[in-house]
Amino acid sequence: MVEKKEPIGTQEQIERRPTAAAGDGRVRPNPFEIAQKQLDLAAEILELEPAIHALLREPLRELHVTLPVRMDDGKVKVFKGFRVQYNDARGPTKGGIRFHPEETIDTVRALAAWMTWKCAVVDIPLGGAKGGVICNPKTMSKGELERLSRAYIRQVGRILGIEKDVPAPDVYTDPQIMAWMADEFSFLQGYNEFGVITGKPLALGGSQGRNDATARGGIYCVREAGKVLGLNLNGATAAIQGYGNAGTYAHQLGRDLLGLKTVAVSDSKGGILNWDGLNYEAVMEHKKATGSVVGFPGAQFITNEALLELPVTVLFPAALENVITAENAPRIQAKILAELANGPTTPEADDILYKKGVYVIPDFLCNAGGVTVSYFEMVQNAYDYYWDLETVHERLDKKMTAAFHAVHAMAQKYKVHNRLAAYLVAVNRVAEAVRLRGWA
Ligand code: NAD
Repeated sequence: MVEKKEPIGTQEQIERRPTAAAGDGRVRPNPFEIAQKQLDLAAEILELEPAIHALLREPLRELHVTLPVRMDDGKVKVFKGFRVQYNDARGPTKGGIRFHPEETIDTVRALAAWMTWKCAVVDIPLGGAKGGVICNPKTMSKGELERLSRAYIRQVGRILGIEKDVPAPDVYTDPQIMAWMADEFSFLQGYNEFGVITGKPLALGGSQGRNDATARGGIYCVREAGKVLGLNLNGATAAIQGYGNAGTYAHQLGRDLLGLKTVAVSDSKGGILNWDGLNYEAVMEHKKATGSVVGFPGAQFITNEALLELPVTVLFPAALENVITAENAPRIQAKILAELANGPTTPEADDILYKKGVYVIPDFLCNAGGVTVSYFEMVQNAYDYYWDLETVHERLDKKMTAAFHAVHAMAQKYKVHNRLAAYLVAVNRVAEAVRLRGWA
């Protein structure tokens, strides 16, 4: 029986809104309006035709679904889900699926727009999409999550496909969830179609090199930034905010590929600092044993805020959004800001950093290694022929290096900061496809 009292997503959650984040009472701007404003700025500089500009301001398609799921207590709970296919002018759309209690349609729209620009900036032949379900996975059993994942595919599967739209993991979804989704989709088709979803386990058609792809792509960009700035990065200092997937691999690969000396790292409990350098393996072991980097022997405690202001050569925000703002931007001393996190820098801070001469590698370029290897996964699934790790690394390097230099050149040409330059590269590529296809 359907539980009627349970809200399945309040109107405020589903509709466009300025968001007041749960708990802290702070009103945050609507992410989709931010995404549209960023596009507007690029459209003005590129002198885009009004019709193309109008088309790129809105998603091409979106599907809202209602998902009945039988819970472990035998009752049926109804969830609300979305899939937004923002723009497919350059190819099938691509983007993750988030399971989150504060998911909103406008967050999904904004993320789908950003996926469109991210795929275009690294020049992979894909458009942008995003999906989401309003739910709290932390309170759900494995069986409930599996049934929710399958229910989502039964509804949204009709607009998915290797030639149409290919999801991937995102916040609170993982390779196991992708495997259930690929399985459900394959049953609907009547044959195995693993390429419909990326971020799968290796045994089900995942790609080598997906685990560290985001950090690796960012490290390749830092290497190129060192070259254009004339900086010797071997032995240069680095600080990393966030010690999860992106942050830990940045520590390891920064050392292994560039010779960076990471002097500070942090997680949600705080940070650690040692100017002689932090040993990657030892910090990982400490985090595994204690649940945090804090308390690492031989290092002093440092707050997350102070870490951002250290006089290091490379700063990697790899945790949260909006951590570099107009308030602390004047105190940022890093020479290169490599944004592995999504949205760590506010637009006001961007202008301050640009004037100060901090070289920003913007998020949708710096962390595009993940989606690039996801694209490689699609290609390998389509051919049913799998590459070795070296091939993945070599091809990722080529893509990231070319993208970095396209953005750098655009910034020089228009005398704008790198984030706007990345928009100019990406929007220009999508607009060209729209124009060639005769859509506007
Ligand atoms: P994760 O969950 O593996 O790690 C997040 C880390 O941030 C954890 O160490 C956590 O302790 C830390 N953290 C949480 N709150 C914090 C706080 N207040 N201060 C400092 N640290 C805090 O996540 P991830 O996959 O590494 O993603 C990190 C960022 O990179 C996100 O913005 C994500 O969107 C972005 N990103 C990740 C990928 C990827 O492939 N993993 C791809 C693109 C972008």
